[in-house]
Amino acid sequence: NGITLERVREHVWEIPQEGDMRVPARVLASEALLEEIQDDKTLEQITNTTHLPGITNYAICMPDGHQGYGFPVGGVGALDAENGCISPGAVGYDINCGVRMMRTNLTYDDVQGHEEELVDSLFANIPSGLGGGGIVEGGVDTIDEILARGVDWALENGHAVEDDLRHCEDEGMREGAAPEKVSQKAKDRGKNQIGSLGSGNHFLEVQRVTDVFDSGVGEAYGLEEDQIVVLIHCGSRGLGHQTCNDYLRKIEQQHKGLLDRLPDRELAAAPAGSQLAEDYYGAMNAAINFAWVNRQLIMHRTRQVFERVFDRSWESMEMDLLYDVAHNIAKKETHTVSAEPRSADGASGVEPRIDGEERELYVHRKGATRAFPAGHPEVPDAYRDVGQPVIIPGSMGAGSYVLRGGENSMDLTFGSTAHGAGRLMSRTQAKNEFWGGDVQQDLEDQQAIYVKAQSGATIAEEAPGVYKDVDEVVRVSDELGIGDKVARTFPVCNIKG
Ligand code: 5GP
Ligand code: MN
Ligand code: MN
Repeated sequence: NGITLERVREHVWEIPQEGDMRVPARVLASEALLEEIQDDKTLEQITNTTHLPGITNYAICMPDGHQGYGFPVGGVGALDAENGCISPGAVGYDINCGVRMMRTNLTYDDVQGHEEELVDSLFANIPSGLGGGGIVEGGVDTIDEILARGVDWALENGHAVEDDLRHCEDEGMREGAAPEKVSQKAKDRGKNQIGSLGSGNHFLEVQRVTDVFDSGVGEAYGLEEDQIVVLIHCGSRGLGHQTCNDYLRKIEQQHKGLLDRLPDRELAAAPAGSQLAEDYYGAMNAAINFAWVNRQLIMHRTRQVFERVFDRSWESMEMDLLYDVAHNIAKKETHTVSAEPRSADGASGVEPRIDGEERELYVHRKGATRAFPAGHPEVPDAYRDVGQPVIIPGSMGAGSYVLRGGENSMDLTFGSTAHGAGRLMSRTQAKNEFWGGDVQQDLEDQQAIYVKAQSGATIAEEAPGVYKDVDEVVRVSDELGIGDKVARTFPVCNIKG
């Protein structure tokens, strides 16, 4: 692809600034992961991102990075909120796609023998797939309230307890949501999907904790070996998708001047301070709230399913939310902007543009997770001393991880780390390589993992083999000190959209 990477130090690679690039790009990866990153358009895309006005320090590709719409999945771009811009493609179509993990006090022993009943009951009670409706049917008023208030709405309507709000990024309610900036079409798409997994890559997985690497942090997070936890991955469904689409089209039309100066139309961006930048930000915040309610309703329904299967109250099983993290968002955040010290030989030849200055930035995290370290005021009280929980799913046949925001994340990645293992191949390629029925049978026979999906094609598209090695992704995050290993989990059963 003709893009040269310079090694800055272990796991840090740089694409030097040249031509119309405003800053260098950085790739955080081991040599093994770097080879996979070079297979598709990821490097080209992360380089393109450096052309966006107001981009600060670097455009950064996480270790799980792969090609996406305009901006790589696994990309972080911090764009000045005063004289930069905001770009829907750098947030992603599935606004506030994210994951939440719920603890239980059950052990693997308690669940063994109940796997099939559990997976069947989850599948029957949690709407998934393309049709299927949602847990709540919402009129226009309901949608508007959800968009404005997020999980606060769920609390008022009996789908949440106070504690759920405390253990969610932004406490489950993003400020600055503007429901009136979300189109009727988007709301219509969302109103039958309130509390639904969706299709494809979204899932609900019952897991057991296999390793706790850091017992102190593990204790703060309430994690122990052999414990059962539940991981939920989904986003804002049709409502978020439509919102992204609506604003991409508007921005393409109204900010053609900026678009023409960008190397890729898919990066279409609205200049900070413009009406469209404000409107998109308000609409995106509203879609973020919708996604949080979505994951909340699914989690609360999961509690009810466990109550029936284990014939006990969910409170007695201590089914509490560990944490909920978004991995497709932009947020106005204040960061001290100072590039880290350069390598001794000044390999990149680029000096930091601004040093030690506080700036308000639109931090775009697409397929990237916020990873604020210990002491950060936005980390909930319960975790303030150890750092924000970060949840990294692997695949339905491999482990997943809980990390904590690392000490170096503010300096290296605007407080971010990876969001998963990252895809190795496209869905089309996956369907040629794998047969859903076989994958499902193998998981059950060889690893005692029970999977239930709307279609065999989904299982093929999401087969463990389509994902990179999550252990390697997490190793890089841990060694860079942006997200430190706390615990590893392994699937027990899984439902897919
Ligand atoms: P994305 O949000 O980009 O679709 O996916 C997030 C990550 O979830 C993927 O990179 C992959 O590592 C992980 N993942 C996908 N399917 C599953 C699954 O069924 N179970 C688990 N534990 N992780 C998955
Ligand atoms: Mn998603
Ligand atoms: Mn996702």
